[in-house]
Amino acid sequence: MTNLVTNVQSSVEARPEAPAVVYDDHEFSYEEFWAQTGQFAAALRDRGVEPGERVALYLPNLPQLVAAFHGALRAGCVVVPMNPQYKSREISHLLSDSGATTVVALADVVPFVEEVRDDTDVENLVTVGGEADAGTPFREFLVEDGDTSVTERADDDLAVQPYTSGTTGQPKGVQLTHRNLASNAKQSMDIVPDGLQPEDRKIGVLPLFHIYGMTVGMNAALFGGATFYPLPAWDAEEALSLVEDAELTLFDAVPAMYNDIVNQPNPEDFDLSTLRQCTVGGSGIPIEVLRRFEEIYPIRIDEGYGLTETSPVTHFNSPNWGRRVGSIGKTLEGIDARIVTEDFEEIAPVDEGPVDEADYDMDEITGELVVSGPNVMKGYLGLPEANREAFTEADGKRWFHTGDIGYHDEDGYFYVVDRKKHMINTAGYNVYPREVEELLFEHEAVADAAVVGIPDERRGETIKAFVVRRPDSDVTADEIRDYCLESMAEYKHPREVEFVDELPRTTTGKVQKYELVEE
Ligand code: AMP
Repeated sequence: MTNLVTNVQSSVEARPEAPAVVYDDHEFSYEEFWAQTGQFAAALRDRGVEPGERVALYLPNLPQLVAAFHGALRAGCVVVPMNPQYKSREISHLLSDSGATTVVALADVVPFVEEVRDDTDVENLVTVGGEADAGTPFREFLVEDGDTSVTERADDDLAVQPYTSGTTGQPKGVQLTHRNLASNAKQSMDIVPDGLQPEDRKIGVLPLFHIYGMTVGMNAALFGGATFYPLPAWDAEEALSLVEDAELTLFDAVPAMYNDIVNQPNPEDFDLSTLRQCTVGGSGIPIEVLRRFEEIYPIRIDEGYGLTETSPVTHFNSPNWGRRVGSIGKTLEGIDARIVTEDFEEIAPVDEGPVDEADYDMDEITGELVVSGPNVMKGYLGLPEANREAFTEADGKRWFHTGDIGYHDEDGYFYVVDRKKHMINTAGYNVYPREVEELLFEHEAVADAAVVGIPDERRGETIKAFVVRRPDSDVTADEIRDYCLESMAEYKHPREVEFVDELPRTTTGKVQKYELVEE
């Protein structure tokens, strides 16, 4: 059963009265949630929206997003998630490239849709919350007595089309099918210790427009008949209070969120003892942040890895097979991974990781991580050149190039060293920023850090660290440089150190390095 909607329907049938979504003081039972998705599907049909048409969701994490997402799928449509922080210039490309005919938008961002609407195919504008100048409020859009049937979809029919930015150019539309997303949501249930249970209560603080929150958060919870707690914005204190008050059992977050948690004034004031799993992904969690979190709370952080193009999870440190700190884990069942050279030759594993980078020639043991499995996207929409670069056919499999550099060990654990495009070449040496960042995080005065290569006449590139100091610290740039020199080869240490108040990050916690370089 690989249809996203029918999987959720099974939970509705099994537990109609159980809470599906809890937001603020509102509790939506599975039955109520299902009724609302039916009314949304009926409303789309009423307006003549056909299966296969794109429905863009331009919303923060709210119950209406959950209902519209599954309502659109129920009518056979394809969901195009959009970051609610985007402005008109950014949504203009997404709306025209996808050809979306319906947009569900938070009232605050309706003006951005209006600005670009004439250049798009948008016919229906549905608004959520507040007063909007245009469009139909969500409640009024819903149709009570319409056609609420579930449109049949083949496994390989598209379900969701998120956009992801490449190294250059416009964001690309990632075509994900029902099979892609349903298989990964099921695997996200399996990576929970003893499997995700109907009694579980899962936080929804990762943005739902991003694949991690969508699959591992929302869809895994709904597939499992558990309860999902969406939070529209990240605030460490609010999230931890929710865990405590609602006795949540499952917590998913990106490294920047865990870093915020451990850097709070009194993190130990929160009782997180009801949690039975914390996951992390989206970027590598600095080992120091993981260690501090686990010192404060009686719960581990299990790291995984994935991409939008792989729905997302390919690797995980599941308690089912044990974890290795510093590793992205082993591949999930049915997913294959290799480390390959530029010529697609397989690179052999090391005995056991993580390795000490000083003991190895990293260029020998590392290569690009490629993956294959039921979760790998159909392809980028309308971009044959990008698709040629993204896939290699070999040994009867279609391998997706992740753009990440890593290595693996004899026991099947994989390690991501960095993004291919972030590698710095300084005076002929390759340096991966991640290694320098890990060291910076170990310094007691460092609250956050990012390392980039900046142009340098003599060395080609030179290494620069951007550091956020802890509030009570007056550490100097020289001290940071000396500290790095003590523990790493001279060519790797940051010759330049700049202190900043905060780092530019995406909503999913990735440091926007190109912004730092441009500065
Ligand atoms: P996205 O498409 O936004 O999900 O970004 C995918 C990218 O996030 C990957 O290609 C990696 O560079 C990065 N990423 C995700 N999880 C991890 C992880 N555990 N360690 C290192 N990088 C990660």
